[in-house]
Amino acid sequence: MAGISRYNSTIVAVGDELVGGFTLDSNSHWLAERLRLLGYPVKRITAIRDRPEEIVEQLQRELADPEVTHVFVSGGLGPTPDDRTFASVAQALGREQVIWEEARAKIERRVRRMHEAGLLESPDVTEGNLRMARIPADPAHVFRNKRGMAPGVVYEARGKQIFVLPGVPLELKSIFTEELEPEFLGGGSAATVRELRFTFAVEARFYPLMRELEEKFPDVSVGSYPNFETKELVIRCLGSDPKRVDEVLEVIRRRSAELGMVGEARQA
Ligand code: AMP
Ligand code: MG
Repeated sequence: MAGISRYNSTIVAVGDELVGGFTLDSNSHWLAERLRLLGYPVKRITAIRDRPEEIVEQLQRELADPEVTHVFVSGGLGPTPDDRTFASVAQALGREQVIWEEARAKIERRVRRMHEAGLLESPDVTEGNLRMARIPADPAHVFRNKRGMAPGVVYEARGKQIFVLPGVPLELKSIFTEELEPEFLGGGSAATVRELRFTFAVEARFYPLMRELEEKFPDVSVGSYPNFETKELVIRCLGSDPKRVDEVLEVIRRRSAELGMVGEARQA
């Protein structure tokens, strides 16, 4: 993509259910939009299985990428043995795992409350519950996670920030908007996005123009997105300088009108 930003994020979505086609990876979709709007655009999204060696391998890839400044890991923080993300993060970062006392105390309180409400038979914290408080050592920050038991955690390594978040969409979103975004993502500036929408336009007719724009405006990325159900074609321009993006939009508008196609401008 044109115009690599000062910050670049990657997302690692962990879960057998994601790659098995059981659950849609809505966390990545949601994070990608938020991160673009905050000026921390996503370079890559990877969905992987709950296998420690595969999680470690993917994390090592993210850590080795010099363009990447922020890594977001979601999923696999639950109480069952198939939740292996914390152990894998610890291995990838070369750290021990420690019981995080605040997280443990919170799990204890929650278990007790759930027991009192008749949702759990025993008020005792199980080995499974305790797994959620066993996090890699030396976190830069631990999020409270008002909506669940597993904490969200931030690590710093190789000049990057690594955010490890629960997979439960409600918990991930609440940690992100209430705690993570205000504290860690205040320094970005969002790219400008402009769109032109055409009805019944033939995508191939834009080919020469798009090739030309690619050369003349390497700092603006132009994408063409046909929707075969609505018969709409969206031409989307994205770049860090609003003036340059507007210029590109104007060229497309003029040239497509010459070809007899009229696009409706939308500010995305
Ligand atoms: P986990 O944190 O892996 O134990 O996941 C807890 C719940 O969140 C499960 O029901 C998952 O299917 C769901 N979940 C995990 N990852 C994602 C994701 N990337 N998108 C949507 N739902 C997810
Ligand atoms: Mg899981």
